[in-house]
Amino acid sequence: MSIATVNPATGETLKTYQAMGEEEIERRLQLAEATFRTYRTTSFAERARLLERAADLLDGDRDEVARTMTTEMGKPVAQARAEAAKCARAMRWYAEHAEELLADEEPAAADVKDSGGSRALVRYRPLGPVLAVMPWNFPLWQVVRFAAPALMAGNVGLLKHASNVPGTALYLEDLFHRAGFTEGCFQTLLIGSGAVDGVLRDDRVKAATLTGSEPAGRAVASTAGEMIKKTVLELGGSDPFVVMPSADVRRAAEVAVTARVQNNGQSCIAAKRFIVHRDVYDAFTERFVAGMRALKMGDPTQEDTEVGPLASERGRADLEELVDDARRSGAEVLCGGERPAWPGWYYPPTVLAGVTREMRVHREETFGPVATLYRAADLDEAVLIANDSPFGLSSNVWTRDEAEVDRFVRDLEAGGVYVNGMTASHPAFPFGGIKRSGYGRELSGHGIREFCNITTVWHG
Ligand code: NAP
Repeated sequence: MSIATVNPATGETLKTYQAMGEEEIERRLQLAEATFRTYRTTSFAERARLLERAADLLDGDRDEVARTMTTEMGKPVAQARAEAAKCARAMRWYAEHAEELLADEEPAAADVKDSGGSRALVRYRPLGPVLAVMPWNFPLWQVVRFAAPALMAGNVGLLKHASNVPGTALYLEDLFHRAGFTEGCFQTLLIGSGAVDGVLRDDRVKAATLTGSEPAGRAVASTAGEMIKKTVLELGGSDPFVVMPSADVRRAAEVAVTARVQNNGQSCIAAKRFIVHRDVYDAFTERFVAGMRALKMGDPTQEDTEVGPLASERGRADLEELVDDARRSGAEVLCGGERPAWPGWYYPPTVLAGVTREMRVHREETFGPVATLYRAADLDEAVLIANDSPFGLSSNVWTRDEAEVDRFVRDLEAGGVYVNGMTASHPAFPFGGIKRSGYGRELSGHGIREFCNITTVWHG
């Protein structure tokens, strides 16, 4: 795949980029290593000052960078602006909290005595240059949620962004430089996925984080495993959205629409499988389908557009194949299911009912605005369907019954359980999954400590 900006609303190639060659990659790796030697000794106050400056600059650039994102991957521009604002907030959150999240920890005095020591502490030290392999779907947010904690911890970042968002990737490098971070603190490597292996094998790169598909995660984790390097993987998801009889069904159906189509349906934590108790199935379905039908699909640069094009022609073809496979196997298409005749990679909000375990759409991730509906006889069956997925990223449950909430929290196989609301990331909460959704966590104290050398300091 070439590195290029191709407008998904038209299919037009706007700009192509030359991938960096070996010499340039080598120069950047040297710079990362050299910069780390001094950057690691900077104070939290100094790092926070720079990150706050980056947040201020990003706020000022919001409209411009939102337009870049929309042009490169098709998200509605209002959502792109919200993404930029969220990034600035996360930068400020880490600027404010990193020092306390990484403060020395003191083991209990009795344990220190038991070890035969007089004093002991645990210190979180930075690791060095960390490679971040990132996807296009939240081209700013995915990077910032890595970069803000990494920079506050004293690490330096090397970004290999998705090949279809080079403009956003270069913007990020420029943003951190303008904020005052020295050149080697955050660098964008304009390289294709074939060059990742070599960079990851380089001794100067100490760890890697990847957000993306399962095959990409497997490739990076294999090499990192061979090289004994730490990785965090944030992969796909097929989150369940369970609605029980005690729920506010009207509200659940409203939120279900947003949870499914946010970011044109291309979000790892989008609700994708809607599992509804039979007592409220009809009421929920009627409202949900009406909501999906009513969405305004069109030009993502328009303020009132709710669903834009998918990011790539391949992405749309993959989604269509999943819907067609389900249809052929007997699923009922309650709305959508046919691409519009206009240019651009549009696919309409679609709801499938009567989905069975044999259909691909049941096991695979639908990365676009396609929802699957399931009717559950009771809570046990709802949990069974919810867990019947190779993925385990997050989950959503709608009920007013506390005993049911306890059961879901106990039994759902996911890295998050969101009750009476939709999954959304926030800097204060850990983010990540289990099963084939990956491992490790981003955000919160858990995220910032992933790429630290957790050091025991012991005094005899
Ligand atoms: P993708 O193809 O895996 O691309 C993601 C990144 O990995 C890109 O930078 C890509 O580079 C690179 N890459 C691809 N194959 C690689 C390989 N063999 N070795 C090294 N790097 C490789 O993912 P996508 O299809 O664009 O993105 C959608 C996927 O990301 C979905 O499955 C979605 O659920 C997941 N996602 C997960 C989260 C989460 O937090 N869990 C968040 C967002 C998205 P090129 O662009 O150059 O190929």
